[in-house]
Amino acid sequence: MTSDGWPNPALEADVPALECPENVLEWLDSLPKHVHEIASKVAEHGGGIWIVGGAVRDACLGIPVHDIDFAVSLEPQHMMDIFPDALPTGIDYGTVSLRGGDQFYEATTLRTESHYGDGRRPEQVRWGISLAEDLERRDFTINAMAIDIARRVMHDPHHGLQDVERGMLRAVGQAHRRISEDGLRILRAYRFLDRGKAGVWKFDFELSEALRQNAHMLKAVTHERIWMEWLKILDGKNMAQVVEKMAHDGVLDSFLPGEWGVQHLRLAALYHPYIPDLNGLTRFALLLSECFSIEVEEALLALKLSNKERTYILDLHGRFGSLPEQSLSSMRIFRAVLEEHAEQHLKLEVILRSHQLSPSMGIGNETADDVYALLEAYERLAPLKSGHESLIDGHWLMERTQMAKGPALGRLKGWLHRLQIERDLANADEVEAVLCSLHWTEENHLDWPKLRFPE
Ligand code: ATP
Ligand code: MG
Repeated sequence: MTSDGWPNPALEADVPALECPENVLEWLDSLPKHVHEIASKVAEHGGGIWIVGGAVRDACLGIPVHDIDFAVSLEPQHMMDIFPDALPTGIDYGTVSLRGGDQFYEATTLRTESHYGDGRRPEQVRWGISLAEDLERRDFTINAMAIDIARRVMHDPHHGLQDVERGMLRAVGQAHRRISEDGLRILRAYRFLDRGKAGVWKFDFELSEALRQNAHMLKAVTHERIWMEWLKILDGKNMAQVVEKMAHDGVLDSFLPGEWGVQHLRLAALYHPYIPDLNGLTRFALLLSECFSIEVEEALLALKLSNKERTYILDLHGRFGSLPEQSLSSMRIFRAVLEEHAEQHLKLEVILRSHQLSPSMGIGNETADDVYALLEAYERLAPLKSGHESLIDGHWLMERTQMAKGPALGRLKGWLHRLQIERDLANADEVEAVLCSLHWTEENHLDWPKLRFPE
């Protein structure tokens, strides 16, 4: 490090340098000392080091930078040697993870790649020392800028800064070729359109044409990669515009069931004022509301969602179209079963009905206004005296009924739990009084009501 705390200048880039905008200089000043220590060490070993990718883009946009990635000219094994606590997280592709306090920083050796035989990943990776080449292989101009930390300058050979200023997404090099090399860039392009509070960007003409002509290229991309980008798109603030554009450009048809160019009602539903309250998975479920369960299941399996994500969406899908009745008992059951998802379910039902969507499970005659009324009633619903947990357990029930352990005992316990919730019972004595009033000895236990929603 120099005496004023800045890292020693590292190897110089083979790309012209330009002054950083004021906000980028301020961001550089705010970087943790680990970043400077890392940069200094690489410089001491004769290497070059630059901040690259999303961090530079977000710093230029003036939005919070969530992680910092470096490009370095030292080979991965050399990096492992000089940073003994580094992890070889993607060493075959040149990436090692450097520890800095409780953070990790990814450092990737400059490389020259060629031959995208299958449209997914480069077949060959060769280490290089040219920053120019490294920036050239990046997807969009806004992602192809670099910062030299010690010299406090930027390298922007593809004029990403200008595109940041005019809100335009442009491919590095020839759009058609860059998109056909790696189909995932199609989804990345749509993801980067959504600029959050700053609205929606535009594609430059050449990129826009390339995306539409190559939409089918997505079929060659591994589904895990698609899902990661698609979920980010769904989570975006302006997802309605972005997804509508994807549908229009023929991109959704490559990985979702159905013909999306004609799904005007589904797409219009994404603009509903409740959408900002819903997470990406829920928005996805809404988009698929009119598909058959089997189609949804197949699509989610193909996209390789985790079991948790898949169950979440299938549960939502299975409940579409169902409503509680507007009685205290029915609303209490509904709340006890769905818990924190209850309010969201009613909001989804408002959206479905406001946009004439017909979930495959069927839908009742209630209008959006009827569901608003339910939502209001739900918000006024008082908490239960004893919460949602069952006030009695199996032993308690065995003592009082002389029943043996088994399915009938479980069903009776469930029935009592349901009555406890419906009637807001306060203690076990009240449950016992209800038990005495039930004709449980005379009926088939398979007919006993359960605590569930929908019925
Ligand atoms: P985020 O902030 O969401 O992480 P990011 O731009 O950092 O966005 P990453 O997937 O982390 O996205 O990729 C880091 C950088 O690697 C990108 O900025 C881009 O320069 C390059 N990159 C990533 N994926 C591709 C790709 N498929 N083709 C070309 N370059 C890519
Ligand atoms: Mg990133």
